[in-house]
Amino acid sequence: MQQPLQLPVQQPPGCGKSSLLSSSASAAGAIPKGSVVCSTVSGNPYAGLVSHLRAAWLSGKTRPLEYRVAQLEALGRFLEEKKQDILEATALDMGKPPFEAEFSEVLLCKNELNEALNNLSWWMKDKHVDKNLATQLDLAFIRKDPYGVVLIIGPWNYPIYLLLVPLIGAIAAGNCVIIKPSKLTKNSEKLMEEVLPKYLDKDCFAVVTAGVEETTRLLENKFDYIFFTGSPSVGRIIMTAAAKHLTPVTLELGGKNPCYVSDTCDVQNVARRVAWGRFFNAGQTCIAPDYVLCSVEMQEKLMPALREAITEFYGSEPRNSPDFARIVGDKQFKRVQALLSSGRVAIGGQTDEKERYIAPTVLVDVKPSDPAMQEEIFGPILLIITVANMDEAIDFINSRERPLVVYAFSSDNKEVNQVLERTSSGGFCGNDTLMHVTLTSLPFGGIGSSGLGMFHGQFTFDTFTHHRGCLQRGTGLEPINTLRYPPYSTHKMGLVRTATSVKRRGECFLL
Ligand code: NAD
Repeated sequence: MQQPLQLPVQQPPGCGKSSLLSSSASAAGAIPKGSVVCSTVSGNPYAGLVSHLRAAWLSGKTRPLEYRVAQLEALGRFLEEKKQDILEATALDMGKPPFEAEFSEVLLCKNELNEALNNLSWWMKDKHVDKNLATQLDLAFIRKDPYGVVLIIGPWNYPIYLLLVPLIGAIAAGNCVIIKPSKLTKNSEKLMEEVLPKYLDKDCFAVVTAGVEETTRLLENKFDYIFFTGSPSVGRIIMTAAAKHLTPVTLELGGKNPCYVSDTCDVQNVARRVAWGRFFNAGQTCIAPDYVLCSVEMQEKLMPALREAITEFYGSEPRNSPDFARIVGDKQFKRVQALLSSGRVAIGGQTDEKERYIAPTVLVDVKPSDPAMQEEIFGPILLIITVANMDEAIDFINSRERPLVVYAFSSDNKEVNQVLERTSSGGFCGNDTLMHVTLTSLPFGGIGSSGLGMFHGQFTFDTFTHHRGCLQRGTGLEPINTLRYPPYSTHKMGLVRTATSVKRRGECFLL
């Protein structure tokens, strides 16, 4: 079989040599007339860095498989050698229990890394596609091109995982990358800023620490892709900044995740699985179950089971448990504390501002109009809303913004499937919480106000890859090609139709 032509490393249209000039040169007007500067913004404090990365990308350095593998393996060494530092930093930042930090910040990153290393050569390969009659002797394939210079902005709740998992995909796809950690988790940010760069090629990968003002300046530069994880309100700001340069974005946002619990469930199991998902990282998880929808009868049974699960997990005084995290900052503490006034506290409710501690809490008699139902909880508070039946629960879910995940618990699979089929959300998990995130084979992302785009496993690689449609034609057989050139005729039209049409299966070719 004919091998596809290995196309030389190409510069993206509009990015001539001039884009390699330093920002100061461009500011001084040293760019030759007529050339286009892709990433330099006059007087912008980050223009030099973006230019430097763009020059590295244009050099083709990040493209070979061996280079990508070497950088990914270095990232693996960072996770291995600095595991303890990660656990300490996240413990200092928000009292993240070591078990939860190792599981969510280290282990899940390693899984993503191994998935990429195991499959990268396969993911990178050109994908040959079907051809029509006119192109039978040619090569038609999808080239997996890197986007170029990409920006990854992370939140504070999983400050390592939510930067490194997109970074793994961006490196795997052959991009140069700037990552921007959250300012709120200072210790994790410092680790990213001071230690991670020691493991990676500084020409191609940079960490920028920036508050709102500096990030606004950073976003003035042209990036080829922006991957943002955070709140819907900041997501809008990111998308607006990206729109100026027509830069594509992935927005991993939040929302309120409903959890339907049917009357047929094993109550103890449900209580443990829901409590674990809600109180993991003190509820500061974008896919935590936010509110339970169940019947009054189920609420009666669920309450003692939830109390039992909480005591089983954190003891009779969760404040003293080494396995229960704290709220990340004072502002966030006050926001979550204020939500305790919704409905009635059935379990927990204790708070300690000095420690930024909020006990694992369950609120009942919550009305849809209560403040706790107007925003994402993002803290250790579980709401219970009673409904008459599954249909009412589904109507309730569908009357609100589409969530990042819908959970449904039932011992009857048909019921779980009903909830799956009749609702819409970023992801779905039946009879458990959070566990869908452990599969690198599943896409992860939101829909509507919970986000745009997806990642995990090959989906992260594809997110940071431009799927470039390529047709490589032979240079001979010109007499056949003349059939599509003027002067046109009905006869030529018939031949062109036959040679290029896509037919319905079973339809025969008619001239
Ligand atoms: P955030 O939106 O406040 O901040 C996210 C990032 O944006 C941070 O790095 C921050 O420094 C930066 N930022 C903040 N304001 C900015 C501005 N005006 N201009 C430019 N950059 C700005 O979010 P957060 O509080 O860090 O994280 C919590 C939110 O993230 C929750 O809504 C949660 O649901 C969501 N989240 C979503 C996912 C997901 O995968 N979908 C994962 C984790 C968190």
